[in-house]
Amino acid sequence: MRAVVTGAAGFIGSHLCDHLLDCGDEVTGIDAMTDYYDLARKEANLAPLHGRRGFSFRHGDLLALPLVTLFAHADVVYHLAGQPGVRPSWGHGFAAYLERNVLATQHVLEAARTALPGRLIYASSSSVYGDAEAYPTAESLRPQPVSPYGVTKLAAEHLCELYRTAFGVPTTSLRLFSVYGPRQRPDMAFAQLIAAAASDEAFTLFGDGEQTRDFTYVGDVVSALRQAGLSSWTGVANIGGGNRITMNRVLGLLDELAAPVRVVRIPDQSGDVRHTAADITLARRAFGYQPRVDIREGLRAMVEAERVTLSAVAR
Ligand code: NAD
Repeated sequence: MRAVVTGAAGFIGSHLCDHLLDCGDEVTGIDAMTDYYDLARKEANLAPLHGRRGFSFRHGDLLALPLVTLFAHADVVYHLAGQPGVRPSWGHGFAAYLERNVLATQHVLEAARTALPGRLIYASSSSVYGDAEAYPTAESLRPQPVSPYGVTKLAAEHLCELYRTAFGVPTTSLRLFSVYGPRQRPDMAFAQLIAAAASDEAFTLFGDGEQTRDFTYVGDVVSALRQAGLSSWTGVANIGGGNRITMNRVLGLLDELAAPVRVVRIPDQSGDVRHTAADITLARRAFGYQPRVDIREGLRAMVEAERVTLSAVAR
């Protein structure tokens, strides 16, 4: 398979490139190397990929690159580039969300309509649901995002559906639920927890800790992305990990696996949802998705990987 991965230097994108190359695919990675977090991390994510057979990289913004040329021979475009993060999406930060999540996706879809012989898989988000009407949440329930980030992810997902129905571009949007694992973005809770466990810094916990999340191991996510890429199914499907637990329980697990974390509790922030839980029946039926990594195993793998990284930084 010939694949294009947008957002290849990011957390999930770099794991996806690894997985596709392991499967024998040819991969062109694209990334603008935005400065949302430390660029050194993105360079570190890319470094091992550069040496791998079948991998090439194009540095640039989706709004400026010749996407028609880049997509011309692709069997699958995995569109992961975007502006993540719920809390910074309020206020002035919104412009970046609009540009990187909505406008960039429209450029990708226009190029796909013109030139893509294959399919387009879009990384959507559980944030589209907001405070969902029921748990576990099925795709048939009404999305009602509670953050500007969620609004932009939903808008991009609607654009994918629109290009699918209006022009026949075979698009699939996967609503990813709280992805974790090695190389997780430093603004995400698990990465911050592990960094706090390895230092004397406190971890800031929003709310009472009884909020739940359906955590999904990054290895399961990249398998789902490729399975969707190989399948002829199109549409919108949830990708959850079946690991729905409270943040208080995560703290307990981390205490067992690494070290106790000093916690500072502050009130919930606007845009934070109370619970998430994915009904994954559709993804299972459509392309055989089955999460394999439970939270203890996944968190242990992440702690081990971050320990190596943190001790290398300390040296
Ligand atoms: P990330 O920030 O690590 O990766 C995104 C990458 O996209 C970055 O390296 C950035 O430089 C690149 N990028 C942004 N705008 C670009 C543009 N216009 N042109 C080219 N490159 C651009 O984030 P991540 O956590 O790996 O998330 C990847 C995708 O998955 C995002 O679309 C995010 O919304 C979605 N998602 C993530 C999660 C999660 O839990 N991490 C959950 C649901 C959905």
